Amino acid sequence: MNKKVVRYAILWFSVMAIIVLGFTAYVYMSVKDFLDETTSTVVLIVGVVVILALGIAIAGVTAFIIAMNKDKEGDEKQMANVIYGSEVAKELKDQMKQEIEVIQASHKRVPTLCVILVGNNPASVSYVTGKERACAEIGLGSKMIHLDENTSEEKLIELVEECNHDESIDGILVQLPLPNHINEKNVLLRIDPDKDVDGLHPINVGRLHLGEDGFVPCTPQGIMELLKRMHVQINGKRAVVIGRSNLVGNPVARLLMNENATVTICHSKTENIEAICKQADILVVAIGKAKYVTKDFVKEGAFVIDVGVNRNEEGKLVGDVDFDNVIEHVSAITPVPKGVGPMTITMLLKNTIKAYNNKESI
Ligand code: NAP
Repeated sequence: MNKKVVRYAILWFSVMAIIVLGFTAYVYMSVKDFLDETTSTVVLIVGVVVILALGIAIAGVTAFIIAMNKDKEGDEKQMANVIYGSEVAKELKDQMKQEIEVIQASHKRVPTLCVILVGNNPASVSYVTGKERACAEIGLGSKMIHLDENTSEEKLIELVEECNHDESIDGILVQLPLPNHINEKNVLLRIDPDKDVDGLHPINVGRLHLGEDGFVPCTPQGIMELLKRMHVQINGKRAVVIGRSNLVGNPVARLLMNENATVTICHSKTENIEAICKQADILVVAIGKAKYVTKDFVKEGAFVIDVGVNRNEEGKLVGDVDFDNVIEHVSAITPVPKGVGPMTITMLLKNTIKAYNNKESI
């Protein structure tokens, strides 16, 4: 039986027992002078038993109802501060679907994303399939180009250039990582910055750092969207980002600073990392270490964004944050899975529509 129910039952039983016994004693004292000894003893015993049984029943039912309500309140509290990116992503995708329906209704060309995959890395194949599915879900055009593992760097760059000049393509994404014989930087540098929906071209990185409009990498952009949905005040707040990759840590730190947060970036060489993180009103964790962040890193009432995707010993997906350990201490947290992940693909769709609108408005 639920421990809370037992605790409440004992408490209520004690209270009821005191009241009932007091009442019985009072009644007995009042009537005992009018009855003979045997009858008064029988009346006393029957009275106590009946009233106690009634008291126990009332106490039990009341305790049960109270405990259930308390449990429900607890669950609601726990659910209220878990922010599901999957739900936000669904809302955003519904909006984009409507936007595309309007474009289709006006018989115009639909925005189109081109994804280039080199080789058969299983994770990359699954990401590309996911992107294709997401495009189809909202009616966005998609063109998937799957090249052989041995494709040369020159051949890949040639293809990127073709896509740059293809008027039917709005966004280009080269799925990373590329096979070892291809220099990723050389390839990314050749994507037209205005079609660079992954936001990794140096021109877009520069635009982000100058606070100018451009394409922002999808995961950091998704994180900012989630913070907005959590109604988190960023302006003037202390933010700490753990991780300094070009894909997540660096751009999200910049985006937070562009929104007037005071930002600290921590990495694998940071000393006193727990103490630094403990000052954060907003804590973003992107390191790829399962359950690394515990309550010792978290300020009471902080907003925590868990970007990490790791597999634990049982093969289950877990984040960089020890969710169960911190949940009681945070104002809100994103779970893994169903947190930041679904936002990443959604931002890719958003960026493709943005590239389309930029082109169409010229
Ligand atoms: P990354 O390129 O490997 O960078 C990891 C960063 O974490 C580095 O800056 C590293 O510091 C830092 N780091 C590693 N161990 C640390 C420690 N013990 N303490 C403090 N800092 C530490 O990884 P990433 O691409 O940024 O991705 C990070 C995580 O996010 C991964 O789990 C990845 O799968 C996940 N991710 C998820 C999504 C999504 O859509 N959900 C998207 C992208 C990434 P140094 O620079 O000093 O080495």
